[in-house]
Amino acid sequence: MRAELDAVVVGSGPNGLAAAVTMAAAGLRVHIIEGAPTIGGGCRTEELTLPGFWHDVCSAAHPLAVASPFFRRFDLAARGVALARPEVEFAHPLDGGRAAIVTRSVAETSARLGVDGPSYQRLFGPMAEHTDEICDTLLAPLRKLPAHPLVLADYGRRAVLPASAVARRWQTEEARAILAGAAVHAMMPLTAMPTAGIGLMLVLLAHGVGWPVVTGGSARITDAMADAVTASGGTIETGRWVRSLAELPSADTVLLDVSPRTFALLAGDRLPVRYRAALGRFRYGPGVCKVDFALSGPVPWTNPDCRRAGTLHLGGTFEQVAAGEAEVAAGKHPQHPYVLVVQPGVADPSRAPAGRHTLWTYCHVPSGSDVDMTDRIEAQIERFAPGFRDLILARAVRTAADEEAHNPNYVGGDIGVGMQTIRQTLFRPVARWNPYRTPIRGLYLCSSATPPVPGVHGRCGELAALTALRDMFGLRELPDISPAQLRPIVSAHTAR
Ligand SMILES: Cc1cc2nc3c(=O)[nH]c(=O)nc-3n(C[C@H](O)[C@H](O)[C@H](O)COP(=O)(O)OP(=O)(O)OC[C@H]3O[C@@H](n4cnc5c(N)ncnc54)[C@H](O)[C@@H]3O)c2cc1C
Repeated sequence: MRAELDAVVVGSGPNGLAAAVTMAAAGLRVHIIEGAPTIGGGCRTEELTLPGFWHDVCSAAHPLAVASPFFRRFDLAARGVALARPEVEFAHPLDGGRAAIVTRSVAETSARLGVDGPSYQRLFGPMAEHTDEICDTLLAPLRKLPAHPLVLADYGRRAVLPASAVARRWQTEEARAILAGAAVHAMMPLTAMPTAGIGLMLVLLAHGVGWPVVTGGSARITDAMADAVTASGGTIETGRWVRSLAELPSADTVLLDVSPRTFALLAGDRLPVRYRAALGRFRYGPGVCKVDFALSGPVPWTNPDCRRAGTLHLGGTFEQVAAGEAEVAAGKHPQHPYVLVVQPGVADPSRAPAGRHTLWTYCHVPSGSDVDMTDRIEAQIERFAPGFRDLILARAVRTAADEEAHNPNYVGGDIGVGMQTIRQTLFRPVARWNPYRTPIRGLYLCSSATPPVPGVHGRCGELAALTALRDMFGLRELPDISPAQLRPIVSAHTAR
């Protein structure tokens, strides 16, 4: 019997939307079902605190979107999505008014690192010249051979190491702090492999493509993707949580932008016992406690260069940051946590009324924590920006438990949907030749629990959709997702 639809996508995060964009561009009839009242998943913007203050609810800094081969072809700029670029990509303040400052220029960044400058230049200079090739490989399916193996070799031999091993090459607190702050995005102790890989990749992205925010807010990205889907005749339904595959409209293909845990619940005993057990063994990481602030003015960072940074990593020296993360891994709430800060107003004044600012912050906490870390986050900001508390007009807090309640993909508040261990980087979520394909014919997993990595780049969704197009519709060509291409819908049966 003929299916009502060619493809149903459950979840409208960047990966669900990328899958839908790809299927729609192939001329297929696509329907998206989203549980939350609005689309966008981890890429949304709302007035969380006061009217006129627009906060990124989840993702805020977008190096991966700029680096993504999917978004390069989708062409955000041509679709009216403007990136706002701070003068300093990220900063890491230290006590005594010092700070490590990372700009697009490797030479400028190295020049501030004293005796470590030449070594920093030797490490990142050659890699930054090949950012596109490295990013294309890192954001490609893992079983694909790298197009530029030599370029990757230098990155790869260090990437598998713990950040603590790579940081040993530097003596200055500034150089070591740069790696610590970037590597902690892995949400693992800095003595764990492959935290160096995550840290080096993020520093490389700062030099190669920058860490921009989106003018008007991250939601502009997912809005543009949703517009592309509907312009191709696709449909989107919000406010409907899917509890079982049996609830879905009939379709040749289903793509799930959900966590492995939700996937197991939706599919129930339709999944073979071994595959279900493998999904059950998938390990989630710690959670985050996020605090958004409405401020009466810019943050008064002691170090003036920090006032020009889009993103800041707080927590002090490598050792202090590492100690905080080790506590989180041991199930504790650190008194002095590593705090990730984005101040979009330095590049995008549209986020708040004139002269006012929004501030986006979070720190890591044990999985499932319901502890409000506001005081400890504020104390870390005050440490490097005395007088900060006097500027606070309003706050919005979301504990790790709240994160999961808000989006079930973030199990225990784990915004990466799964630990970034070497095993779970190579085999995500289970060991299969094609990780997007599931044992149920026509059913694909497309969330950030699949390769390549978490973040707003759309590649998990796109690669899952390309698998589905090949398997179910016999389509092998990459659909044209450029803005010029508005395909009329044809049925799956015509496309075949
Ligand atoms: C606080 C925070 C900060 C972040 N910061 C950054 C950043 O600065 N830069 C960056 O690149 N990335 C960042 N990320 C990560 C990034 O947001 C995610 O990796 C990305 O959104 C993953 O996309 P996705 O489509 O796989 O999943 P999601 O964006 O999580 O979307 C999944 C969607 O599926 C829906 N859904 C789930 N289950 C069901 C169901 N049963 N029925 C119906 N709908 C369902 C959810 O409601 C959600 O809308 C951050 C994430 C968080 C939470």
